Amino acid sequence: TWSAVPAGPPDPILGITEAFKADKDPRRINLGVGAYRDEHGKPYVLNAVKKAEEKIAAAKLDKEYLPITGLPGFTSNAAKLAYGADSVPRNQNAIAVTQSISGTGALRIGGTFLARHYPHSKTIYVPTPTWGNHIPLFKDSGLEVKYYRYFDKKTVGLDFEGLKEDLQNAPEGSIVLLHACAHNPTGVDPTQSQWKDISDIIAEKKLFPFFDMAYQGFASGSTDRDAFAVRYFVSQGHQIALSQSFAKNMGLYGERVGAFSLTTASEEERKRVDSQLKIIVRPMYSNPPLHGAHIANTILSDPELYQEWEGEVKGMADRIINMRERLYQLLSNDFRTPGEWSHVKSQIGMFSFTGLNKEQCKVLAEKAHVYMTMDGRISMAGLNGRNIEYFAKSVDAAVRG
Ligand code: PMP
Repeated sequence: TWSAVPAGPPDPILGITEAFKADKDPRRINLGVGAYRDEHGKPYVLNAVKKAEEKIAAAKLDKEYLPITGLPGFTSNAAKLAYGADSVPRNQNAIAVTQSISGTGALRIGGTFLARHYPHSKTIYVPTPTWGNHIPLFKDSGLEVKYYRYFDKKTVGLDFEGLKEDLQNAPEGSIVLLHACAHNPTGVDPTQSQWKDISDIIAEKKLFPFFDMAYQGFASGSTDRDAFAVRYFVSQGHQIALSQSFAKNMGLYGERVGAFSLTTASEEERKRVDSQLKIIVRPMYSNPPLHGAHIANTILSDPELYQEWEGEVKGMADRIINMRERLYQLLSNDFRTPGEWSHVKSQIGMFSFTGLNKEQCKVLAEKAHVYMTMDGRISMAGLNGRNIEYFAKSVDAAVRG
């Protein structure tokens, strides 16, 4: 029956973890996967999460199904976290929100909703480059994927002129995917003033903004600051779609906790949109998982745990920022590695787009046991006090050839 099924290519990111696992050299470093590691290189379960789990266990909750759109307290608190306590559509009860299978599931519900109900276009513009999964995910949702310029290889920074030109030239009504903060894979974000210009173009061209916020708090250490773009757009009267993930900022990766929301014009409109979100979710997976939503909701609704969590998010963000500073010092001052390395410091969030080319990445894997994606992206969280010098030295050797 399946004799004609062709073998597909392996996932480019998960394939790196496999190569890393097969390498037994004690110096090996995995900088491929975007999951936080502590200063000992170990996965990190947040204290706020451990305490929330203790509270949940003590409450002896049952295992009944959640409603189709998830745990109501969780979705309400997730929207508050993203949009802010004083958001106008929130106070008007005009945000339609559903729990999702983390950020990926939120994007998929959003893609499907737009393909079905957005009246003006079936085309979504995504930045080049973008998180690799955006492309098949939106295609599978029934949208056509096109691209806008984002990254300038020459400056290793934002191609703002290219971005503006491409958005200005997109057909009126097109959907635009925006990384709310900590752009993956480049680590390059627009400034607040650039966000304002982007908002103006989107208003002028009647484009529809779909924000992917997978790293709220992880970029700057402040969940409010990282929500700037989302809140600014809403304050300017844009209706937006939003995907949220709690994988990174709460370290709930495998629990699959997220939310998808749409701001609408009124409570009445919100109710109709809600009914259609349910119609999308019900035949797909019926209703979302329980445990992770309880963890996130316990943290978001308990002032003490919330405060502890905010401190831990800042701790993770700060450790990464320290690693950026250290790597910059090593390459630029200690080893005087050829090239300009200040982007390592100025980039934001989990990743750095180093500017290393495919050949250099290959040499790093084969000669130095250092694994990263072939586009030169490294997960900063994989670096720590024990391996960063070895890493910088290996980069230096690879660049010198
Ligand atoms: N969007 C972006 C930009 C991401 O980097 C990720 C995680 N790598 C996701 C969405 C979704 O991740 P998850 O489904 O684990 O929440």
